[in-house]
Amino acid sequence: MSKARNASRFPPPCGGLWAAAAIVLICLGNSACAREDCSVGPRADAARNAASLNTLAWAPFHRPEAGWATYEPLVAREIATACPPTSPGFAAALARWRGAHALRGPGVLDAPTFFAMYQVWQARRPFVVVSKRACPAPPAVVAQARKDEGWSGKPVSLRLGALGAYRKMVAAARAQVPALAADRQLMTMFSGYRSPAYDAERCARQHNCQGVTRAACSAHRTGLAVDLFFGNAPGQAIDSSDDVNRLYISRSAGYLWMVKNADRYGFVNYAFEPWHWEWTGEPP
Ligand SMILES: [Zn+2]
Repeated sequence: MSKARNASRFPPPCGGLWAAAAIVLICLGNSACAREDCSVGPRADAARNAASLNTLAWAPFHRPEAGWATYEPLVAREIATACPPTSPGFAAALARWRGAHALRGPGVLDAPTFFAMYQVWQARRPFVVVSKRACPAPPAVVAQARKDEGWSGKPVSLRLGALGAYRKMVAAARAQVPALAADRQLMTMFSGYRSPAYDAERCARQHNCQGVTRAACSAHRTGLAVDLFFGNAPGQAIDSSDDVNRLYISRSAGYLWMVKNADRYGFVNYAFEPWHWEWTGEPP
């Protein structure tokens, strides 16, 4: 799979200089792996990406954040590179993506580029597309997951098709990633189907409405959305949207596997929440 990428993700070789022939293998989905030279590309753009990776001052989700490292796995997958985000190869891949999406400019990850990419990601979420017209009705029937499939034995329900797809996906992940096979809590579900009444009550009781989303129209009402446990940062709740927790999860073995493979099982991610995935095999 992508050991080369994981082994060389962030530190640039040769004390910060990209020497010739920094080769990695890129393996996306079922396609054959290809060799990619991360030293080839616009070096000035790579330097700008390296400088902004952990410091970019922006508000991609309407609150201030520093850097884009949390989103780097999704960005790398989108631009089809296995090169580290600080490398010329990454900048070259980003420039190609920008060019293909009518965005002129360098291979630099900035707010407009991220926003364009985010629109692409959101368009892949049927729930987002459908709920612009009307909030989908809850399903008539949901299936109960096994106790060991819920985080700490928590009862979780999903539509039957989504549950079957989840099971196939988790089996594949555990077969391919030793860390996931070793800790059976990883990739368990800590939320699935939630009735509109439950969400409204929780919103009022906990004053935690995720804006108005949870109260008004959550993807979890469809029985197609699932929150997966990939670990949590020390001192953080498993569903904490604190940036520290989101960054921690975005670097976990389980999340990185999902970014590369989940689409083969019909699951798409909501970029702000690395734990939140939606199955696209049935209409919401
Ligand atoms: Zn969720």
